[in-house]
Amino acid sequence: MELIVTDRPTGAPNKGVQLSRVSKLGGIRSWSLPALETCPGAKTDDGLDLVDVCKGCYARAGHYRFPNVKKVRAYNKLDWQRDDWVDRMVLALDADRYLRWLDSGDIYSRLLAEKIFDVVSRTPWVKHWIPTRSHKVPKIKSVLDRVNQLDNAVVRYSSDSIDGRFSSYHGSVVIADSADLPEGATLCSAYVSGRCNGCRQCWDKSVAVVAYVAHGRAMKKLVRRIKSASACGDIL
Ligand code: SF4
Repeated sequence: MELIVTDRPTGAPNKGVQLSRVSKLGGIRSWSLPALETCPGAKTDDGLDLVDVCKGCYARAGHYRFPNVKKVRAYNKLDWQRDDWVDRMVLALDADRYLRWLDSGDIYSRLLAEKIFDVVSRTPWVKHWIPTRSHKVPKIKSVLDRVNQLDNAVVRYSSDSIDGRFSSYHGSVVIADSADLPEGATLCSAYVSGRCNGCRQCWDKSVAVVAYVAHGRAMKKLVRRIKSASACGDIL
């Protein structure tokens, strides 16, 4: 992933919108936050553990640990709170046609969700894909539901499981293997080449549920543990 800076701050550190160009998505940009610390939906209901899918989070491994990658996400965590952030985001997206929100991190506050609503509303030329687990926080979900009603936004409520379990409530799910594709889900083919190759179904409202094959070392290890635990009749 190549990082680029739009509206690079010059002497005024609060004037920049920082977006990452995601090579997998063919250069489509993403606005992201630090993983886990901004992910209220990452915890189990009792708050004592991470949900299965977050135990193998790709955004806490590999290049996501590089200082420049972490710096952008830490900056964004402060930046969105500035009064002019929505205006600056709208300007920064002038030439974009697609945006993937939250390549890492999640919507951890109702105010951030409200601001994202404003950005989406004011950029009708951009299709917004917003994957999130924050639908588990009722005061945030009520805003996300409104965002999802906008023509140019697809908010995908992510399932916590990595065994293909999802309900009609969810818009995405992780599966252990492409052969395990659940009924009603559409397979993401990026696990083959690591690239979307022009696919845009994540942004397509007519695609109800996208199934992503578990990838990355941590996730694959976790899948093996879960499969071996279930073969033994154990619970992870
Ligand atoms: S479903 Fe399509 S657009 Fe979404 S990540 Fe996979 S290949 Fe890319």
